[in-house]
Amino acid sequence: MHILVSACLLGLHTRYDGKHNQRDNLIKLGERHVLIPVCPEQLGGLPTPRVPCERVYHQVISKDGADCTAAFELGANEALKVFELCGCEAAILKARSPSCGKGPTYDGSFTGKLTDRPGMFAEKLIKMGIPVYNEDELHLLV
Ligand code: SF4
Repeated sequence: MHILVSACLLGLHTRYDGKHNQRDNLIKLGERHVLIPVCPEQLGGLPTPRVPCERVYHQVISKDGADCTAAFELGANEALKVFELCGCEAAILKARSPSCGKGPTYDGSFTGKLTDRPGMFAEKLIKMGIPVYNEDELHLLV
């Protein structure tokens, strides 16, 4: 199966702070599936490193108060194109990210508080009925 994966989970330095969130059990999953790494925030034109952002209702706001909604929306659409072009059937996305989190994600207060709202890319996939997992749910993948 072709599976789209948050690039940071595969060791790419795409995170807002220029680091990654590599999960070795996910790398191992590449022995059985074709893993396609994607970072919606980079695809939306945001730099790395970048100011962290959180979702505030239908918007995405950076920690310094800038409205980054358009870049996140663009990134979500571009990542969806990769999903379709590569014939992916599922996605494994980084938990709690304002792009990738399938929910919950941080609530916009930048205090570590969570809300049920998913990240913008994850929300798009979920609405389309695409199976979405986070990095702690690999056991659910068949
Ligand atoms: Fe990782 Fe997704 Fe954030 Fe990119 S947007 S750094 S892939 S969680």
